[in-house]
Amino acid sequence: MNKLYDVIIIGAGVVGSAVAREFARFSLKIGVVEKELDVCCETSARNTGVLHAGFTYKTGSLKAQCAVEGNAEFDKVAEELDVPFKRTGKVVVGFNENDRQSLLKYKAVGDANGVPGLAIIDKQTLENLDSSAGGEFAMHAPSSGILNPFIYNIALAENAKQNGVDFYFNNEIMSIQRKNGFYELTTNRTVYQARWVVNCAGLNSAKISSMLGIDGYTLAGFKGEYFVLDKKAGRYLTMPVYPAPGPTGGFATHATPTVDGNVLVGPNSELVEDFEDYGVTPAGMEELMTEGVKMFKHMKREYFIRNFAGTRPKLINKETRQVLDFVVEARAEAPNSINLVGIESPGLTCALPLARRAVALMREKEELIANANFNPRRKSILCFAEQSREVQKELIAKDPNYGEIICRCENVTKAEIVAAIHNCLGVETVLGIKNRTRATMGRCQGGYCETRIAEIIQEELQKKTTEVMYARRGSAMFTGKVRG
Ligand SMILES: Cc1cc2nc3c(=O)[nH]c(=O)nc-3n(C[C@H](O)[C@H](O)[C@H](O)COP(=O)(O)OP(=O)(O)OC[C@H]3O[C@@H](n4cnc5c(N)ncnc54)[C@H](O)[C@@H]3O)c2cc1C
Repeated sequence: MNKLYDVIIIGAGVVGSAVAREFARFSLKIGVVEKELDVCCETSARNTGVLHAGFTYKTGSLKAQCAVEGNAEFDKVAEELDVPFKRTGKVVVGFNENDRQSLLKYKAVGDANGVPGLAIIDKQTLENLDSSAGGEFAMHAPSSGILNPFIYNIALAENAKQNGVDFYFNNEIMSIQRKNGFYELTTNRTVYQARWVVNCAGLNSAKISSMLGIDGYTLAGFKGEYFVLDKKAGRYLTMPVYPAPGPTGGFATHATPTVDGNVLVGPNSELVEDFEDYGVTPAGMEELMTEGVKMFKHMKREYFIRNFAGTRPKLINKETRQVLDFVVEARAEAPNSINLVGIESPGLTCALPLARRAVALMREKEELIANANFNPRRKSILCFAEQSREVQKELIAKDPNYGEIICRCENVTKAEIVAAIHNCLGVETVLGIKNRTRATMGRCQGGYCETRIAEIIQEELQKKTTEVMYARRGSAMFTGKVRG
């Protein structure tokens, strides 16, 4: 099978999906090729979900520019794409004189970067903002916010799909060759041809870069572990609470509320060789407990419901080990390619600004014609639990599946699960349903509903028991029947 595209985007994380959506504003045939079975399976699903303000990045850097730009536009983006988002503000707290100097330094950087409203506040003001926050004083960043990172990634991809972009899952790019002015991209399943290629492969971006003929990039993987706390803890925390950065910069363990009312404690930071090792360690969990309680006074072990880890793909100078800026480039040695490398934090905040820069690079080479039918809007699945009693009754009267609760912790109905199964991207995994509906994200973590979701997937899509996947390739939920 040969498929010819104007643009092939490698990777369907938040950056690849944003790039797809921004290219869809033009009359182009676009495909996204992703090795996993869904969008949002790697770093885009394994982060804190904070819309950063932009005060930690070197003035003039792409990280600073894109963070400030991405932050400023996010109310509009969230509204257009129906993404849960709260502009909560953030406090970066300090305990001693060194911390105060660090906060003053970052306030100056933030002011220079154009971050609005940064202020150093005293203990009483901090208490008034969030009484659960540790610290003796703080820097308040009112423009920071929290968003649902899964829904944001899904929304960008769905919006791209609705505007004509093709998505190919379970397709891992194995090699790239340039023949007669076209790229030939060979995956584990097929071959795609494209006039342009955009590398949005996250942790594999240096590898894909080499396949394109651009060598010399080194990524260092910094793994961060998290605790997820129950919504009982979420009652207390109103905004992210971060510690003042130490002399080497970078934030240690912080406490962040999620848009759904949980609390994330983490991440720590450990240099790792294996970019796909998402395991968490007892030592890491102890560290989070010790550090987390300094940020969030109500942290208790009884609130823990889950842990996870994510790895930041930091682009480094191989000799000095210094961390470098994001790369978005179009290089002569790989004509008609756009290379995005080292998109670590704040890549979630920066996804759309980075995507616009990718489009601008293509525009320098050829004229792009606007897609007159482009629609920037997209709707999420209706959340039954958030509706009034009257609306809930009406919904049940129209569709009895709304009367059947599948996930008891998060009150997710069968109607929502069925809607998620019939998503426009054609995703069929249990994790895909979880990320779209919150089913299995509650206190019991799927103990009650996971197998029921698998059963509904089977029914709706006429699948055999052994064909239902949990998340990744080969992650079959069932291997067969125990009894004949
Ligand atoms: C611990 C942690 C906390 C963070 N917190 C924040 C935060 O609060 N706010 C913020 O703004 N940013 C945060 N970030 C950064 C943010 O999560 C990332 O910058 C962003 O998700 C990167 O998106 P991406 O699309 O580039 O990468 P990914 O999400 O990793 O997507 C890359 C995709 O490419 C696919 N792929 C790779 N190789 C191939 C191949 N050969 N063929 C086909 N497909 C391939 C992968 O499967 C993957 O789906 C955090 C990151 C981490 C790790």
